[in-house]
Amino acid sequence: HCCTSTGCRAANSMGVKKNLEAAVKEQGMSDRVQVVGVGCMGFCGNGPLVEIDSQEKLYEQVTPNDAGSIISALNGGVATAAEGDLNHPFFARQVRIVRETSGKIDPEKIEEYIAAGGYQSLYKVIHDFTPQQVIEEISNSGLRGRGGAGYPTGLKWATVAKMPPGQKFVVCNGDEGDPGAFMDRSVLESDPHRVLEGMAIAAYAIGANEGYIYVRAEYPLAIERLETAIKQAKRYGVLGSQIFESNFDFKVNIRIGAGAFVCGEETALIASIEGGRGNPRPRPPYPAQSGIWGNPTLINNVETFANIAVIIREGAEWYAGIGTEKSKGTKIFALTGKVQNNGLIEVPMGITLREIVEEMGGGIPGGKVKAVQTGGPSGGCIPASLLDTSVDYESLAKVGSMMGSGGMVVMDQDTSMVEVARFYMEFCRGETCGKCIPCRAGTVQMYQALNKILHGEATEIDLVKLEELCEMVKFTSLCGLGQSAPNPVLSTLRYFRDEYLALLKPGV
Ligand code: SF4
Repeated sequence: HCCTSTGCRAANSMGVKKNLEAAVKEQGMSDRVQVVGVGCMGFCGNGPLVEIDSQEKLYEQVTPNDAGSIISALNGGVATAAEGDLNHPFFARQVRIVRETSGKIDPEKIEEYIAAGGYQSLYKVIHDFTPQQVIEEISNSGLRGRGGAGYPTGLKWATVAKMPPGQKFVVCNGDEGDPGAFMDRSVLESDPHRVLEGMAIAAYAIGANEGYIYVRAEYPLAIERLETAIKQAKRYGVLGSQIFESNFDFKVNIRIGAGAFVCGEETALIASIEGGRGNPRPRPPYPAQSGIWGNPTLINNVETFANIAVIIREGAEWYAGIGTEKSKGTKIFALTGKVQNNGLIEVPMGITLREIVEEMGGGIPGGKVKAVQTGGPSGGCIPASLLDTSVDYESLAKVGSMMGSGGMVVMDQDTSMVEVARFYMEFCRGETCGKCIPCRAGTVQMYQALNKILHGEATEIDLVKLEELCEMVKFTSLCGLGQSAPNPVLSTLRYFRDEYLALLKPGV
């Protein structure tokens, strides 16, 4: 298995794959060895990755020059590439539900997904479940939206299902834009059929016959693989008309975003799908009541849909047995920053930040953790003293951060937390859509205030003003972008106030 996803491709995994294929031929191993291009294996920081499936052996940082020796090692030779430790907590502590076949199958072949049990859940619901039973199963599983807010998925589905019959839509939100986050990209690149199957099950449950996947333009490989997957699914009769020879029809369209972070917000995403400018609008009405072209619309993110087929296959009770009382199942995180092991991990809810950062991530080489940022520009910085915090929706909110979509950036003692706050504010200042004044003007003013502090030109009064501004923007902005933009400032002020005070000029 040679990873052909974006992370490893950036380190020339396609050159590795080409040389592996050539080596198989040259060494006369074609009858025994097949080189398969697979999706993301997770250990992205150490790519390109090559796994010998039959031996459970992983090679890391493989170069095209290593290819010949990797193939000859199958015959007793010695591989020149470094061998990874699959028993390391980075792998061993993971619970793979969404990523169960990521890095195991060729994402460009529907046959491999089907051979791994794919589309059986869709078959099962169409033949054995009423739409209401599907919704009950999802509700009982306790699955909550993985896009950030954590709204109960079953409740969302039930709300759309209760709307009067007629045109309804299912939308998959793949507009992942948080700095440091690449979970959805990886799922789409590694296992696009899993997302399509989840969407089709949702469509059956709520009575929709059309769906959209909204993917950001910066993810060309994900878009390419989705296009291939949709074509294949139609050919196999698992998308399109009379799916599995039933009277259930479902077609999926792809919409490509144009690079605006705010389009991840539900109402902005709807406007963008309709062809308009991606501006949020006030809610209510909620998309469940009035979404695409005024029709009831169900919106879930990529990871949420990717959970659905497994829940149907294994049952709600099994899924609800994983995680904490209120946060069920697993969550994928993009573990990045100063930590030793960078990459994608899927962990059960309830694991602690310390277990993730120190055990799985291997800590910071030669240094100490200062903070962990979760939730991207909407989240917050959690200090090292709170590393024993449980990773679940409620616990992260209690310490002033949030689960978010899954970005997790580890910072060391040399990191300036005021600069971190400025970085996220600069991001929000650039991404505000400008529709409402608190966010449009407030993000600029907060950014200027942070600059003033970092330049040593601010007084204590400026700091008080910054805090007041944060509260005002938080409570008066129209959408989630503005409402959460102050969070990185507020959380760094809460836990690292000394760093702000040390930068102030004397006097008031
Ligand atoms: Fe636009 Fe910001 Fe207002 Fe949201 S909060 S509508 S992003 S200006």
